[in-house]
Parts: sequence; structure tokens; C-alpha cells
Amino acid sequence: MSEEGNLASSTSNGYSSEMPCKKRDDYLEWPEYFMAVAFLSAQRSKDPNSQVGACIVNSENKIVGIGYNGMPNGCSDDLLPWSRTADNKLDTKYPYVCHAELNAIMNKNSADVKGCSMYVALFPCNECAKLIIQAGIKEVIFMSDKYHSTPEMIAARRLFDLAGILYRKFKPKCSKIVIDFDSINSRPSQKPLQVTSN
Ligand SMILES: [Zn+2]
Repeated sequence: MSEEGNLASSTSNGYSSEMPCKKRDDYLEWPEYFMAVAFLSAQRSKDPNSQVGACIVNSENKIVGIGYNGMPNGCSDDLLPWSRTADNKLDTKYPYVCHAELNAIMNKNSADVKGCSMYVALFPCNECAKLIIQAGIKEVIFMSDKYHSTPEMIAARRLFDLAGILYRKFKPKCSKIVIDFDSINSRPSQKPLQVTSN
């Protein structure tokens, strides 16, 4: 046994109580992680104009539902329109597409999502607000509110306010997260996740 080992650094269990290597302190924090999951999920969307993801989290910081905007199950996204404008509304995506919030709720892997928080890229529309309220979700954290003045968003806020649903804009501690698949084969100093601070 080394001299240091006698200085209360080794235990009868045979391991050192001294930390041989400090844990990382630049790990991703929960809120950034959940919003990043929502954004990563959005990359599954076939919508050429708008990719939105949502991530539902319970009180134990466990993800219980993820979704992105897309056509309903069994309805080919090659046969339905993706246009935003057309002479006939039936030739636009709007009557058909399922929003990320709807899909995240329907994809839940828990019995329900009561009391959960939803991380979502865009502030929810009125139709999604109804679903969020009825599902029992208590808080919405959104990245962008770019359609703030549209009737759909005004109605959504009205519903949220009446139902007591909290909503707030996400203020990320980092502006960019880049995933590098090759980093797993590289030196420990090379990070799989490149986080760009604000
Ligand atoms: Zn919606």
C-alpha cells in the first residue's frame, strides 16, 4: 500500500476514495437536452417548409413522448400535398398534416402525460393547445413565437390562460449543438457534442 493510501484515501473495500478523474462539467443540461431532442426529431419531417418537433417530459425528467409534423399514419406523404397555398384549400397540407404536438401526445409511452412539460420548437396553434390542455400537460416551453399575431396563436394563448397552462420562451445557454458521429473513434479531448455558447 502506498503512503497516500494510508491517508484515508483507500477503503477496506479496496478502492480509492480519491477521485482519479473529475467528471465532465460541460455536459448538456436538461432543458437544452429536451429542446435538442425536439429539434432532432423535427429533422424527420418531410415538410419542405416547416420542420417542427416536440418532446414531452415528466416530473422525473424522463421523456415520455416525441413527435414531429407529418401526415397521418397510413396516409402516404407522397400522395398528399405539402403546399402552403393553393386555389383550393384541399390542395394544401393544412387539412391533412398532424402537428408535432399531436404526434408527441399520441406517441406517449406512459399511461398519460398529466402534469408533464412540453418542449416544442414553435408556439402551439389553437388546435394543439386544445390537445395539450385535454392531455393534462401543464407547461409549454417554446423556442419561437414567430406567428404570435395570427388568430391561431392568439386563440391558443387565450385557451392556455383560461386553463392555467404555463408557457414560456426558451432561453438556451448555448446557441448551437453539433453532433459529430466520428468523435467516438477520436481522442477523448474531441467532443462528440460541440456546444456553442451564446
Ligand atoms: Zn398545432
